[in-house]
Amino acid sequence: MYYHDETTADALEAWSDSRREADLGQSVLEARANRLYAHEQAGFCTHQSAVGYRPTPFYDAQKGLKPGQYRCTDGCGTTFDDELAWVDASQDPYRSPVRIRRAGIPTWKSTSPAASPHMDPEETL
Ligand SMILES: [Zn+2]
Repeated sequence: MYYHDETTADALEAWSDSRREADLGQSVLEARANRLYAHEQAGFCTHQSAVGYRPTPFYDAQKGLKPGQYRCTDGCGTTFDDELAWVDASQDPYRSPVRIRRAGIPTWKSTSPAASPHMDPEETL
């Protein structure tokens, strides 16, 4: 509760409102993360990371991809026809659950021995 005759009332109220909004936003993100974690703990992939096609594969997981395709690197290795398909699957992995299968999935390991592990593959496209 702020009194309007306080010189700092507006500033304090704005500060309080922004903190409340940040807390609400944070709780929404936490709920989403908890739901994704529970889905993963139940043995299903959440498709939260992927690699896209490159003419010259940088990572093992990019091998065999066709132009426009993406491959999940989060735990299932599913190949998506385009970025939108992967984004849809990562936003709603509950609609078509895919079991996690770590064995046999191409990895993030670079195909180039000279490549820096800190190199952003998006920068080289
Ligand atoms: Zn996946």
